[in-house]
Amino acid sequence: MQSGTRTLYYEEPYRTEFEADVLCCVPEDGRYAVTMDQSAFYPEGGGQPADTGILRILNSAGEEKKGASSADQTTFEDTVIPVLDVQEKDNSIVHYTDRPVLAGSRVRGTIDWDRRFCMMQEHSGEHILSGLLHRKFGFENVGFHMGEEIRMDFSGECSWEELMEIEKAANEIIFRDLPIRVFCPSEEELARIDYRSKKELTGTVRLVEIPEADMCACCGTHVLRTGEIGAVKILSMIRYKGGMRLMMHAGRKAMEDYRIKTDLNREICEMLSAKPYESAAAVRRILDADSRKNLRIAELQKELFQYKAETFPDGQKLLIDTEPEASPVEIRRFCDLLLKKKKGETVCVLAGHTDESGTEAFSYCIGSVSYDCRAAAKELNADLDGRGGGSPQMIQGSFHASENSIRSAVSRIFGG
Ligand SMILES: [Zn+2]
Repeated sequence: MQSGTRTLYYEEPYRTEFEADVLCCVPEDGRYAVTMDQSAFYPEGGGQPADTGILRILNSAGEEKKGASSADQTTFEDTVIPVLDVQEKDNSIVHYTDRPVLAGSRVRGTIDWDRRFCMMQEHSGEHILSGLLHRKFGFENVGFHMGEEIRMDFSGECSWEELMEIEKAANEIIFRDLPIRVFCPSEEELARIDYRSKKELTGTVRLVEIPEADMCACCGTHVLRTGEIGAVKILSMIRYKGGMRLMMHAGRKAMEDYRIKTDLNREICEMLSAKPYESAAAVRRILDADSRKNLRIAELQKELFQYKAETFPDGQKLLIDTEPEASPVEIRRFCDLLLKKKKGETVCVLAGHTDESGTEAFSYCIGSVSYDCRAAAKELNADLDGRGGGSPQMIQGSFHASENSIRSAVSRIFGG
C-alpha cells in the first residue's frame, strides 16, 4: 500500500485536520485534480466511500486567507474549496475540487468528521458481522457497499433466526469494548495467519483484527475499540445469487434508523390504540376484519342484483344499465344474470366514474345472444376511446366517453 502521498488517514485515523503543500493541480473532466504531499482524506476503496471536506488556502504566515485585499486579489470563495471526491491514482491520493488550487500553495484540509466517523462505525461493525458469519457458517463476504445502508453479500444462506443470533453475538463483542488492531505482517507472519480476503493479495497486506470475531485484509478506516461502534443492526435479508444479501446499520446510523422506525411505530400504535410491541397484531386484526367485510359486501351485492334484475321487464331487444360504483367483476356477474333471466337479447352494464384528469371513464360488459359482440367491440372501442374485448358472446373493457355517447353508440349497434 505504497503511496506518493503520505497517508495520514492510516497513521492517525482520528485526525480531522492537517496542513499540506499542494504539489499539482490539473483540470480533469470539468473538475480539478489536486495532489498534496500528505492527506487525511480517505480515498474511495474497499467498499468505503471517499471522504469529503474542505481545503483552506493559507498565506505565507500559515494563516487562513480571509478574502480580497489590495495586494491579494483572492476572494473568500477561492480560499475555501470543497473536496468533492478522493481517489487513489498511480500511488497518489487525488482530491477532486470544483475550483483550482495553485501548485505550491499551503493548505489546511478539514475532513467531514461526522460522516467519516459513521463510516468507521459501519465498516468496523460490518467486519464483526462478516467475521462471525464466516466463523459460524464458513460464508465468504463476496460483496460490500457502503451507501445509505451497508449492503453485504455472502456466499451462503442461513435463517433469520440464525442471523439474529449472530447479531446478538456481534453486539456482545461491541459491548465488551475490545481493541481493534490494524497491522501489516511480514510475508512469513502472514503465511501463518488465517484471514478473510475478497481477493488474492500480493505485496504488503493490511490486516484488521477484532478479537474473537474477525481477521480480515482491508484498506478501510476503523475505530480503535469495538465499543465505539455502539451497536449493529441487521435490517433485512434476501436470497441473492445462491447466497444472501444483508442490509445493516451500525452506530449513529443505526440509532437514526431506530428513531425513525420508533416514530413510525408510535404513529401506527396511536392510530390503532395498540401497545408498542402489538402494532403488527393490531394491523393483522384490521386486515382480517376488512376481508370479512369485503366478503359480506360481495354477498349483499349478489342479493341486491337478484332483486334488481326482477325490476326489469322480460325479453327486451337491448337492455342498458349503469351501476356507478360496481367493479368490473360485479358488472360481469350482473350482465350474466340479466342474460340468464332473459331480460334482454343484448345486455350492456356500465360502471361509471370520473378519473383523476376529470375525464369520464366507464367499465363495460356487453353480452348478447343475437349479435357477435367481438365484432362490435372493435367499432365501439374506436368510437368511444375504449379498450377491451372478449368472446362473440361477451366483451368487457373500458370506454373514455360520456354516458350519453356510450348509450347512443351501443343502441346504434345492438338496438336495430
Ligand atoms: Zn473492510
